[in-house]
Amino acid sequence: MYPTLRPTSQLDRQAALRTDADALAALWRAPDTRCLLLVGGKPVIVSDAARTSSAIRWVSVPDASGMLFDLGLTVPDPQHLAALFLGLEDGTRSAQFALALPPVDAAHSHPLLTPAVDLRSLATQGVLSPGDVSLLGLAKSLADWHGSYGHCAKCGTATASTEGGWRRDCPSCQSASYPRTDPCVIMLISDGDRCIVTREPRFPENMYSLPAGYIEPGEDIEHAVIRETHEELGIRVHDVTYKRSQPWPFPHSLMIGCFATTIETTLKRDPAEIDDARWVTRDELLAMVNNQHPEGIWVPGLHAIANSLIRDWLAATS
Ligand SMILES: [Zn+2]
Repeated sequence: MYPTLRPTSQLDRQAALRTDADALAALWRAPDTRCLLLVGGKPVIVSDAARTSSAIRWVSVPDASGMLFDLGLTVPDPQHLAALFLGLEDGTRSAQFALALPPVDAAHSHPLLTPAVDLRSLATQGVLSPGDVSLLGLAKSLADWHGSYGHCAKCGTATASTEGGWRRDCPSCQSASYPRTDPCVIMLISDGDRCIVTREPRFPENMYSLPAGYIEPGEDIEHAVIRETHEELGIRVHDVTYKRSQPWPFPHSLMIGCFATTIETTLKRDPAEIDDARWVTRDELLAMVNNQHPEGIWVPGLHAIANSLIRDWLAATS
């Protein structure tokens, strides 16, 4: 199984419990309840000596509360900003919460808070199980949303977390806000024998991926694929088909992977968005996937939907 960011299969979200304050309070007190910790948005993990395998560092509620007390931080309850109810673990039915803590400087660090490692790095390295990556993606998206929506978008009043961290309420104008997901399209465009790979300025050296962009208000997926491809590459595509999707919690996107075809082969890239765009043959793409391309160019690893779409196309054209 690839360590791709997928909706976690080891968690029963139990959305009905979010509005049941008594049930959440009982879960918070239950002896088998566990918390994962995010420090400044970075998950706390445990690793083997060689750092080749890592996992979420789960902490009991008493241990988490003691650690917060040691740090002089407020001990949360399930309705408090810092405690986010993730759900019940499949199988054990134990409750899982995430605690989103502010960055802690080294002088005030705590053994339970180290190491805190950037989730994108962990996903890229493939050192976490798929379930842990997905769970951390959920927790990080939720925590980032709280960090960005502390004030009401309508009247500017400070909002308060409720429903186990799945809603924020404004005490002034009574409006409610919910965690958001931003849909993006990512597309593999083929002329039958070849497909297009692109490089964005922010990419690591020699890495190419597939063109992508946000869906705009009023668009459907197909229109977004057609518009983005025309804007970025100056070509028109057709036969847009959905292939697969992937949550991408940086900070809260949903990547929607599509195939599309074109008969226009001359690329006119938008230099503001794309450093380079090129057609590659099936053999070239296979070499890029396997890090064997003679020019040293490569594609994102198994954590990324681009990799999955490329493998889908290689399998379909073999
Ligand atoms: Zn308001």
